[in-house]
Amino acid sequence: MKMVFLGPPGAGKGTIAAKAKDYYGIPHISTGDLFRNNIKNETPLGLQVKSILGSGGLVPDSITIEMVRNRISESDCAKGFILDGFPRTIAQADALAEMTDIDAVVNFDISSEEVIERLSGRRMCPSTGRIYHIVFNPPKVAGKDDETGEDLIQRDDDKEDAIKHRLEVYTSQTQPLIDYYTERGLIRNVKTNNRLQPEDVFELTKKALNG
Ligand code: AMP
Repeated sequence: MKMVFLGPPGAGKGTIAAKAKDYYGIPHISTGDLFRNNIKNETPLGLQVKSILGSGGLVPDSITIEMVRNRISESDCAKGFILDGFPRTIAQADALAEMTDIDAVVNFDISSEEVIERLSGRRMCPSTGRIYHIVFNPPKVAGKDDETGEDLIQRDDDKEDAIKHRLEVYTSQTQPLIDYYTERGLIRNVKTNNRLQPEDVFELTKKALNG
């Protein structure tokens, strides 16, 4: 199954994609994680996009599209994949449609107030990308990853100014994709909020995909 997870930053796409990856046995492709890995490894691509990610803006379509084209042509993607954070613009969605046929687009629907509350408390394991929240999904030991024990970090773009900018970018550039995929009959809505546990949201996601 080839899926796209759509929704504002902080909607829980990454957390649910990590569960869906194990359940469906297909890779989870997060463009944000791909960029962050390039930044961490100081690759030419990483150096090119570092300041863009820090500000909460979007990486140019041409760069992002090529990165995804290369990733989904790898052999582990033959049976399907979960795209998390891509497409984010109509141009990216058009490019994706030319690369392959998508089976479903899950739209994680959450209010801006809940997103702000969620992003400002979000913490991440820098090596695995595993995501926590200081209140809603805390690690077993405060500040440490459950499996590797590494110190958790707060992403630069989860700080207040960048959050505001990311939400504006989402509204102007990415939200139009809801209509785009609705017109193509692919949208599956999952209404979520900060009181739902990731397991509950994953159940809703499975139902939305089967229904
Ligand atoms: P995310 O982890 O999905 O919130 O992405 C973090 C950042 O990576 C975004 O704020 C953008 O700067 C960049 N990024 C991720 N995916 C895309 C995309 N599809 N198009 C452009 N920029 C992206």
